[in-house]
Parts: sequence; structure tokens; C-alpha cells
Amino acid sequence: MSSREVEVVARALIDAKGKAVAFTGAGISTESGIPDFRSPQGVWTKDPGAQERLSLDYFLSDPDESWQDYIERFYSLMIKARPNLAHYALAKLEAMGLIEAVVTQNIDRLHHKAGSKNVIELHGRYDEVQCLRCNFREDIEKYVSEFRKTSNAPRCPKCGFALKPAIVYFGEPLPEKELSNAFTLARSCKVMLVIGSSLVVYPAALLPETALQRGARLFIVNLSPTRLDREAELVIREKASEFLPKVAEYLSSSQI
Ligand code: NAD
Repeated sequence: MSSREVEVVARALIDAKGKAVAFTGAGISTESGIPDFRSPQGVWTKDPGAQERLSLDYFLSDPDESWQDYIERFYSLMIKARPNLAHYALAKLEAMGLIEAVVTQNIDRLHHKAGSKNVIELHGRYDEVQCLRCNFREDIEKYVSEFRKTSNAPRCPKCGFALKPAIVYFGEPLPEKELSNAFTLARSCKVMLVIGSSLVVYPAALLPETALQRGARLFIVNLSPTRLDREAELVIREKASEFLPKVAEYLSSSQI
């Protein structure tokens, strides 16, 4: 990566005076050992059928199999995963007052674990359960233990309906408050930094476009091309964990 790229992004963050938003996707967590979906080593590239098993229809038609798949594919990886240098760099930029929020499509909680405070999770979180009938929510841990003993999807202690991991499955709406807060940020930010997202999952992928329409500067840090590359001021074709710490380092060591 060139030092010019680091400097351009760093200066844009300064010029934004705190009105900068990071929009992250699965790519920021690949180096924490969690595969993304669409890279050559991604979940869907290796197993195209996985997409169907991540749908609400699949959960409702076979909650036991859906839980099995969820635990193997997500829970067992995410419970062990640790933030990488990219997550820590974003937390540092927030602490320095240079990033207002992280809007993430990820469910892995790694931004929180790295110390980011203002995190908007558009697709839920891997470590809780929710009941679609009565809205009961709780930590997932004891339900995972229960599933491991019985192989039956756990039931809601309040209403008896099958409990679902608190992630947004395909075919489910995104949480209203989070979505609305994310669009408010996209409309008012001066810089949007897209990190590790193929920008094909809607409606989340509309956020960078919204920011652009409102005059924000767009920067993309992604290993493969995205449909918004031509609209971005700069595309950084580097690993997030290599590029972002350089930006944070530059900003903390410079007098600008
Ligand atoms: P995606 O798989 O569609 O795209 C990931 C992008 O990140 C790819 O374009 C890839 O080239 C890039 N990438 C991979 N490693 C990178 C790195 N180290 N540095 C920079 N770029 C890198 O992911 P998406 O756009 O987030 O959409 C997938 C959906 O799947 C999201 O809705 C998300 O909720 C979910 N998901 C989440 C996780 C997680 O929580 N960690 C993991 C897999 C999928």
C-alpha cells in the first residue's frame, strides 16, 4: 500500500471533523478466522447451498436442522474469535473523535470486543436468542448447551415458540431502529469508509450510495471489486488489518 493512500484517508478523516462513518462487512473479520460469504474461501463459494439454510423459511420449516447448521457454521467460530488489528484501529479512531460510528453487517460482536462504543448492528448478533412470537430475548449460551444435549431447537420459556438465534436471516426485515439510525448517519456524514463488504446485501448496501448522494466522500477498503468502486474517491485493495492500523498510526503520530 502506498503512503499516499494512508495520508489521503487520514486527512479526509480530519477534514470530516468527526462526521465519518465506518461501514463494515464480513471481510473485516476474515483475519479473525471467520470466513466471509463471497471470497474464494467464502462460505457460499465453497457451499452454495448454505444460502438457503440461512433463510427464515428454512428456520421455520426445520428449526432443529437450522440450529445445527447455525452452531456449526457461526456460533462455534464466533465464540472463539478475537478482534484483529482492523477492529482495534476503528476503535482507536473513534476514541480519537475521528469516527462517529461503526455501522456493521456483521453479527460477530468483534467491534464491541475491540472497544468500539457506537456500533450499529444491522444484521443482529450471534450470541443471543429471540422469540419471533413474543419478542423474548436472552443470552444464547444455555440454549446452545441445551441443543447439544437434545438436538432439538430450544423453546421460548415464555410462550413455547421455537427460539431463533438473534441474527437476521434472509427473508427477515432488518431491525427498524438500527436501520433508521444507520440511514440518518449516512445522510449526515462527510466521509464514509466501506471496509470488507461486497456491497450486494440490501438494504444495508444502500448506505454508501445514500452518503454519496448527500455529498459525502467515499473510500473503499476491499480485496475485490465492488459496484461502487467507480464512485469512490479512492479504492484501497489491501487487507483491512494492514491498512487501517497505518491510518490510525499516522493520525496519532502526526501533528495535523
Ligand atoms: P461478503 O462475503 O459478501 O464480502 C466480503 C468482502 O470482503 C469481499 O468482497 C472480500 O473481497 C472482502 N475481504 C475479505 N477479506 C478482506 C480483508 N482482510 N480486507 C479487506 N477486504 C476483505 O460480505 P458482506 O458484504 O458483509 O455480506 C455478507 C453478509 O453475511 C452480511 O450481511 C453479514 O451479516 C454476513 N456475514 C457476517 C459474518 C461476520 O459476522 N463475521 C461472516 C460471514 C457473513
